[in-house]
Amino acid sequence: MAREAVASERDAAIQQLRDVGLRVTSPRLEVLQVLAAGGHLDVEGLTAAARERLGTLTSQAVYEMLRHFLETGLVTKFDRPGWPAVFEISGEPHQHAMCTNCGQVENTVHEAPRPPEQGLTGWQVDGADIIFRGLCPDCRAS
Ligand SMILES: [Zn+2]
Ligand SMILES: [Zn+2]
Repeated sequence: MAREAVASERDAAIQQLRDVGLRVTSPRLEVLQVLAAGGHLDVEGLTAAARERLGTLTSQAVYEMLRHFLETGLVTKFDRPGWPAVFEISGEPHQHAMCTNCGQVENTVHEAPRPPEQGLTGWQVDGADIIFRGLCPDCRAS
């Protein structure tokens, strides 16, 4: 059962890469599967997680990979003020909460704010993000 689940995750990752026209390579598959497991990871975290299964993988290679994943829309990037950016698998649009103590990021379901009726004359607004800042449960407990 567990074995089948792993196989199908791998198949899903292969399909995702093919769908966006990226060549299927072991490093790409591993990094994509780490991302598909959920959460928000920075380059170092992603590299460490994927390296466990691959043996060798440089963060430079992961940077390069993420650039392709971003360009093809497979992943989205969240810029953390004061921390390295984190990446996640693309999905439903959502907003984020961020811990100001440890940098942990969590998804929140919240509509993006609408642009003000006045004050942005001539702009074409493509989006807006809310970041809820505070302490995560772990940091509150310690
Ligand atoms: Zn925290
Ligand atoms: Zn997110």
